[in-house]
Amino acid sequence: MQIALTGTPGTGKTTIAGLLPYRVIDINALVKGGMNFGKDPERGCLEADMDALANYLAKLDPDETLILEGHFSHHFVDMAIVLRLAPSLLRSRLVARGYSASKIKENLEAEALDVILVEAVELCGQVDEIDTTGKSPLQVAEIVEEIVRGDLRLPPGQVDWLNEFFG
Ligand code: ADP
Ligand code: MG
Repeated sequence: MQIALTGTPGTGKTTIAGLLPYRVIDINALVKGGMNFGKDPERGCLEADMDALANYLAKLDPDETLILEGHFSHHFVDMAIVLRLAPSLLRSRLVARGYSASKIKENLEAEALDVILVEAVELCGQVDEIDTTGKSPLQVAEIVEEIVRGDLRLPPGQVDWLNEFFG
């Protein structure tokens, strides 16, 4: 079984994946490692070779529980867990990362408007979302494990960041 751990950059995917008792496939590392079409001239980041990634993932052991970690990992599987974070806190994390003002704005808007959640719902049969706001990495990892084991469901609708802006 392959499960996507997805979410807007900065929501904690890499941190949480590292705390799980499952093998993790780092989608960004695969892209950097060659599954790309070179740099996107407009955005300055590598353009992922989605077909190469899908082919690679299709060859992995279907009986092993694998966590696909990355902000477009939900494109490859039927089950996704979306990490969410209040935009005010996400902002501080992206500033700490040294992102440009425009990249911060783009990512905060994406988080506020549920962009990755909506994509996951369109692409995957089972989607859960975790509001990580105020939770420690270990607490979030515990919730992810419960969902993976089938002991917990957190269907879309756990957060409403628009209230933070307009409420
Ligand atoms: P992503 O992989 O989604 O881009 P990271 O795992 O790199 O996000 O996390 C971004 C930053 O936020 C890191 O500095 C990490 O230590 C911190 N972080 C992640 N999860 C939490 C959490 N639950 N509580 C506090 N800080 C966190
Ligand atoms: Mg990461």
